[in-house]
Amino acid sequence: MIVFKFGGASVKDAAGVRNVATIVSSHLAEMPFIVISAMGKVTNALEEICNAYVQKSGDCSLLIEKLKSFHFSIAHELLPQNHPVFDDLENIFAELYWAVEEEQIKSYDYEYDQIVSAGEMLSTRIVSAYLNHIGISVVWQDARDLIRTDETFREGQVDWNFTSNKIQQIFNDIQDKNPGACVLTQGFIGGTSDNFTTTLGREGSDYSAAIFAYCLNAEEVIIWKDVPGVLNADPKVFQEAVLLEEISYYDAIELAFFGATVIHPKTLKPLQNKNIPLRVKSFLHPELAGTLIGRDNYKNTIPTFIFKKNQVLLSISPRDFSFIIEENLRDIFEELASRRIKVNLMQNSALKFSICVNTDNGKLPELIEVLSLRYKILYNDGCELVTIRNYSDELAKKLSENRKILVEQKSRNTLQMIISSN
Ligand code: ASP
Ligand code: MG
Repeated sequence: MIVFKFGGASVKDAAGVRNVATIVSSHLAEMPFIVISAMGKVTNALEEICNAYVQKSGDCSLLIEKLKSFHFSIAHELLPQNHPVFDDLENIFAELYWAVEEEQIKSYDYEYDQIVSAGEMLSTRIVSAYLNHIGISVVWQDARDLIRTDETFREGQVDWNFTSNKIQQIFNDIQDKNPGACVLTQGFIGGTSDNFTTTLGREGSDYSAAIFAYCLNAEEVIIWKDVPGVLNADPKVFQEAVLLEEISYYDAIELAFFGATVIHPKTLKPLQNKNIPLRVKSFLHPELAGTLIGRDNYKNTIPTFIFKKNQVLLSISPRDFSFIIEENLRDIFEELASRRIKVNLMQNSALKFSICVNTDNGKLPELIEVLSLRYKILYNDGCELVTIRNYSDELAKKLSENRKILVEQKSRNTLQMIISSN
């Protein structure tokens, strides 16, 4: 058994869904377990709806109607008028309306998960209806019954024991009742013991695929993307980007950790733990081999570049000119951890502790406010964090030419620079 994950770009329109069907149909002998993300940019659109609801920043009904016509038009291109899937889609939109009409807002993160998860519910309903319609037998399964998480909304922590048992049990049940059928389910989402929906973090469908593969002891995972595989740099930023034919789990984890967006960072660990190879392939050229991730002893020597934008460099020093000591570090990290702010680089001196953090979860202003009560805080925003694995001095020089480097750190293999935008 293999696990397939199709990301948003692969199902962004009716032609995309047809292409997915072609890929699945040529792999039926391997019994793909199919994981699908929300279509195209639907997750972003749902985030906008969530903001419109919680922060009253827009007209929810208008935004929902737009999303509805997007999905209905794709479904109409693929399926006959009277197909029961249209009722399923209507129900999902009815639930979305209920969610944004509720007066009482529990918390941003909770509301986010209830609303944003609709993207994967919609895409999987459409794709599974289409596959069955053209004769590929699939069973649609609600991932919230498979992946059990705690109540950390927007970053659900998986209960591996429960999840593993549940996935095996439901998978076996489906196989018994529908011999020869493939299972098709949502990426990105899970459920709590109280049946609330959680999400696993943006781009988390890769992680879902790894969870299913781990629990079902799959032979392989294939992530189908709109790029030929894992490249040594983002081709949009770097014209000379080349394909890495093979990398180790270790290298892949490091790349994902440093911000390469090609694979969700949590994806690798479950696969590495069970030695399940991961292939990243192009859904546009399925005949090409793509990148194979596996074999821990494989040594990639091709320089790899990761550019992470929208970084903030914070420098934190005690107000009374005393040294930065262990207690300060503990204190600072408690404030970071409680807000789930990710630190991408850190550096300390006697009087100053500097960290480079992401700004995307919206909790930074609050962090600065709280830390300012006890420390002097200076910050540079709009920075870029550049990471080069397998760097050479020549490359480093080329990349930093005419740019203002705020912090530089080197290890034997990796060079990191925080570059100011000003
Ligand atoms: N649809 C979600 C997102 O765009 C999950 C994913 O695509 O992996 O973040
Ligand atoms: Mg996506």
